[in-house]
Amino acid sequence: MKAAAGKFPARTVRVKAPGKVNVSLDVGPLRADGYHSVASVYLAVSLYEEVAATSTETPGITVSISPDSTLDLDGVDIPLDEKNLAYKAAAIMADVSEHSTGVHLEITKRVPVAGGMGGGSADAAATLLACDALWNSGLSRDELAHLAAELGADVPFSLLGGTAVGLGVGDDLSPALAKAQTDWVLVAADYGLPTPEVFRTLDRLREAEGLDVAEPTAVDPKILQALRSGDADALSRVLVNDLQRASIELSPALRDTLGRGEALGALAGIVSGSGPTVALLTHNPAAAENLAEDLRHYGLTAFPVHGPVHGARIISDTLL
Ligand code: ATP
Repeated sequence: MKAAAGKFPARTVRVKAPGKVNVSLDVGPLRADGYHSVASVYLAVSLYEEVAATSTETPGITVSISPDSTLDLDGVDIPLDEKNLAYKAAAIMADVSEHSTGVHLEITKRVPVAGGMGGGSADAAATLLACDALWNSGLSRDELAHLAAELGADVPFSLLGGTAVGLGVGDDLSPALAKAQTDWVLVAADYGLPTPEVFRTLDRLREAEGLDVAEPTAVDPKILQALRSGDADALSRVLVNDLQRASIELSPALRDTLGRGEALGALAGIVSGSGPTVALLTHNPAAAENLAEDLRHYGLTAFPVHGPVHGARIISDTLL
């Protein structure tokens, strides 16, 4: 989309934003407003979405998926219209920017779709930052975080990155000073699990058991301690995800993936968020590489990652 000299000055801002793993996820009872309170420790991991936002002379927002996407997207439902989270993010930015133009968003997908890793949220976070730069909106990080929360509970975290405690519906974030690296293997499924269905399943399981759960208000300090010191053994003992049983109920094969990972040497495994991606904790990068390799021999899609990593960042800004 090259503009002729002297005409519309097209510009592309490219931003990358990380996916996340919930190292812990406590889920409260269904609230009257239909949401659930959570207490969670988020970890940004080295699997990034990329959004290239190009200004266009024609007004409006268009979205495409880059052929460089590393995911097999055959049969995967990603809306390219106003239902796409990146589209929504650009629309919100256009509303608050004085000098907005038309924009084309090209998304490079690497985070499994509907995988419980906040891939769509990462696209939204990347788009907020890209359009902020493209249109010189001059918003502060706080103002961007505010807009992010309007787009979805996981969007502010992808903007922030690192390690953070999330309360409320997950959007009430406090950064945690836990910078030591931990190494994981992510096992992606070739299907997605819709997050609302996983929450509904958890409510149903709890109701059938007559289980009364309290509103979660804090995370286990042992989790933050282990993340601060990078002590993978200690961390492996405190990983928790209340949604895991619901994800397994909907997709029993996840139990096998967790079992296989542990049998092949993972310190512990956990379903990431609402799943179906499984995160397996290892001792170090070499152990993660080896485990991923072993899992691939079983036909699984596995990749080594580490965390924490930075939140959404501009990687290039080019005049075309
Ligand atoms: P979360 O853990 O935040 O609930 P997730 O990682 O499980 O999300 P996503 O990959 O964000 O799931 O996508 C969930 C659904 O949202 C998809 O099935 C798709 O229909 C829709 N969607 C909207 N925008 C996007 C996007 N940019 N990328 C992927 N899916 C999107």
